[in-house]
Amino acid sequence: MSNNIIKDIENYIKFQEDISGGSLYLGKLKINIPQEEIPISRDIPKAEPKVLKAEKIPVEQNQILSNKSVSPDWKNSQTLPELYEKIHNCLECKLGSTRTKFVFGTGNPNADIMVIGEAPGKDEDLQGEPFVGRAGQLLTKILAAINLSRDDVFIANIIKCRPPGNRRPEKEEVAECEPYLHKQIEIIKPRFILALGLTAVDTLLGKKHKMADIRGNLTDYHGTKMMVTYHPAALLRNPNWKKETWEDVKHLRKLYDEYLKNQKEN
Ligand code: URA
Repeated sequence: MSNNIIKDIENYIKFQEDISGGSLYLGKLKINIPQEEIPISRDIPKAEPKVLKAEKIPVEQNQILSNKSVSPDWKNSQTLPELYEKIHNCLECKLGSTRTKFVFGTGNPNADIMVIGEAPGKDEDLQGEPFVGRAGQLLTKILAAINLSRDDVFIANIIKCRPPGNRRPEKEEVAECEPYLHKQIEIIKPRFILALGLTAVDTLLGKKHKMADIRGNLTDYHGTKMMVTYHPAALLRNPNWKKETWEDVKHLRKLYDEYLKNQKEN
């Protein structure tokens, strides 16, 4: 066997160990690893989630006068703190009145990779930060498996407020909220987007897909290269999809490394 294949198998097993919580999947074969024996295959960077806190920017006079919950000039925001300050009191759809916290997004404002999920769940709604529940912890491990920490990337959702009972976001909610995501992408200018799950992708691309058709290859999202893979919550329900997820994130890492190499050379 060539060294590359051996390395690949080693990496895949490490990935499985990191994200499996006790089971190793080799094709259809499931091997249970006793929890206490699960090796920590490398130092997984501790997530130091920092919710983006804006410096105090005074509420603008025109916001007070317009009685809009968002500043009318939010589209002119030049930075994430400025955008946050202008939109975080948003009440433009009905989710504004049921949310606990507005979940703006977190991470590196200059990230080359943006991770986009669907909508905040219960934990995210309480903490004001995306992907902090069980699925979020798995996402942190998936990122660590390709040597990325949460602070290397920027993590956001298509919509910023939790739909009650974790139902799918409705059309009007997406229509109100997705422009905020576009603005975040415009400010961050990521080289790549990692889109998580079919609901997120179908919403982003405005049509239905099959995961088998869309995952693993780059797609375009408003001019940014987008890689699609399974949502971590789906992986918790269906561990058999971990293999494909590993292939997808490994592919993304390869493309990112090529990009970094080109940047160095030019
Ligand atoms: N699922 C998502 O899509 N986003 C979150 O922030 C948490 C769970």
